[in-house]
Amino acid sequence: MSYLVLARKWRPQTFEEVIGQLHVTRTLQNSLRNSCVAHALLFSGPRGTGKTSVARILAKALNCEYGPAPHPCNKCGICREITAGSSIDVQEIDGASNRGIDEIRQLRENIQFLPTRCRYRIYIIDEVHMLTKEAFNALLKTLEEPPSHVYFIFATTESEKIPATINSRCQHYEFRRLCTAELADHLSSIVRTEGMGLQQDAILLLAREAEGSVRDSLSLLDQVAAYGATSLKEACEVLGIVETQVLKELAIAILESDISKALKLIDDVYSFGGNIQKFITDLVFFFRNLVVLKNLELDSAVTLLDFSREDAKEFSPLVSKYSAHSLFQVLDALIKGQEAICRSTTPKLSLEMLVIRLCSIKEVVGIDDLLGKVDKLLSSVKIQEKNLSEGYAKEIKVAPAVNPVSVTQKKCSPGAWTDFVDSVKEQHPVLGSLLTCCKAIEIKNNGDLIQLKCRSGIQHDMLCEVDHQQSLRELTKKFFKRATDVVIEEIRDNVDTGAAGKTFSLRDELIQSPLVKEAVKVFHAQISDVRIFSNRGQEV
Ligand SMILES: [Zn+2]
Repeated sequence: MSYLVLARKWRPQTFEEVIGQLHVTRTLQNSLRNSCVAHALLFSGPRGTGKTSVARILAKALNCEYGPAPHPCNKCGICREITAGSSIDVQEIDGASNRGIDEIRQLRENIQFLPTRCRYRIYIIDEVHMLTKEAFNALLKTLEEPPSHVYFIFATTESEKIPATINSRCQHYEFRRLCTAELADHLSSIVRTEGMGLQQDAILLLAREAEGSVRDSLSLLDQVAAYGATSLKEACEVLGIVETQVLKELAIAILESDISKALKLIDDVYSFGGNIQKFITDLVFFFRNLVVLKNLELDSAVTLLDFSREDAKEFSPLVSKYSAHSLFQVLDALIKGQEAICRSTTPKLSLEMLVIRLCSIKEVVGIDDLLGKVDKLLSSVKIQEKNLSEGYAKEIKVAPAVNPVSVTQKKCSPGAWTDFVDSVKEQHPVLGSLLTCCKAIEIKNNGDLIQLKCRSGIQHDMLCEVDHQQSLRELTKKFFKRATDVVIEEIRDNVDTGAAGKTFSLRDELIQSPLVKEAVKVFHAQISDVRIFSNRGQEV
C-alpha cells in the first residue's frame, strides 16, 4: 500500500479549503461568477502557501463540465482528470527545467490548437522566474493577445525576478505567509481527523517551525507522526529543535549577566547535537517575542507571538522585570551577531563570544525615563537669581569613602595631620606641596571632618581638582585607617576682583546651585569637572 504524504492528502480541492488566502480565492470566484477571469495570471508568494493548488482549482473551475463555476464539482471526469494531473488540456510545466526558448516556441505552437476534451487549454508554469530572458521575450506577444481558449497561470516564489513587461501583462495575485496561529489551527484539525494524538504545544512548535508554509507544516507533521511523537519534548527531539525552556533559561542568564550559566546552556545544546545556527535564530525570535510582549497588552500580543497564551503568561513576569530598552538592546545585538554566526566556521565559539558580550550589557535607562527625570528636576527646582559678582567663601566637599572601618583607627590631631602631610609629600609630592600651602586646619566631629583653609588662587583650584580629591580621599583613608571628610574652604580676598577670582566664584556658585544639586541627586551623579564658557562660547 502506497502512503500518501499529508501534504498531498490534504491538498485543497476547492477554493473554500484553501486557508489564509481569502483575498485571492474570493477575487477569483467573483471573476468566475462574472466570467471575467484574466487570460494571464501571476501567483506569487512564499513556498507552500497554495499557489499551485489554487491554480489547479481554477483550472477545474474553468473546465468543469458543470462550469465554468466558482465551485468546481470535483466529481465529473474532467475535474477528476485535472486532480489526478492526467488532463491533456491542463499542463503543468516546471519553469526550472523548461526554461529555454525552444520549450516556449513549442508551447506557442501548441496553443494554436483547440483543447481536446476541455473547454480551455490551461498552462500552469511553476517557478516561472527561472525562464531565460529569451523565453520571456518569446512569451510576450502571446501574453498580449492570448487565444480565447488559452489561460496562462504563472506561479513564482520570486516575483521581483519577473520582467516588468511580463508582469504588466498579467493579473498579479500575491499569496501571503500564514501566521503561526492559522497554521496551528489547521494542523490541529488534521491531527484530530487523523487521530494522531499530538499535544497542542507540539502542534504550535510545528506551526512555528513551518514559517508560514502549509506544505512545510504538513511535512513536519509527517515526520513527527512517523516517529510516533505526541509530546513537545519528543517533537523537539525528532526535529532537532531546542526547547523553549532552554531558550528561556538562556534569556534569563543573559539578562541577569550570568555568564557561566549561559555558557553551560550553549555547551549543553552543542553536546546534544543541536544546530548552533538554528539555535541563534530561535534565540533571536525568542527575544523578538519578549519585545512584542513588553510593548503590547497580553491579549493583542498573543496573536503576534509564536508563543501559546500559557507561554505568554509564563513569560510576562520575566518581561516586566526588564526595561523595553534592555530587551531591545539584546535583540538588536543578537540580530547583528546572527549573520556572523551563521557564516562562521566556528559557530559555537562565535555564539559564546556574543553571549559573553551580551552578559556585560548593563541595564539601560531609557531616554524617555531620563527625560522624565529632567522634567521632574526642572519643575522641582526654582532657579534663584544670585549676585554672581559677590565674593564669598564656598565649600567643596571631598566625599568620604563608604566602606566600614575594620582596622585600628588613627586619631586625627593637628600633630597627626602634619605627619600625614609629610607622608603625602613622599607619595604624592604635588599634593603634598599643595597641602603645605593651606593656611589653617580645623578638626571637627572627633576627627570625622577636617577643614582646610586655603587662599583662593591656583593652589585652591588644584586642590579641588577631581584627581587630587580622589588621591586625598585615598591617602587619608590609608593614613588614618578611617573614612574622613576633607573640606577645602576658600579664603577669598574681597579686593581681588580680577578675572580669575570671578571664575572661581562662578565655579562655586554653579556647584552650589539648587539645580545642579538636584541633578546630582536625581541622576545619582558626581560632579567631575566644572567648565565655564563666555557668551561667545570660549572657555574662561
Ligand atoms: Zn467538475
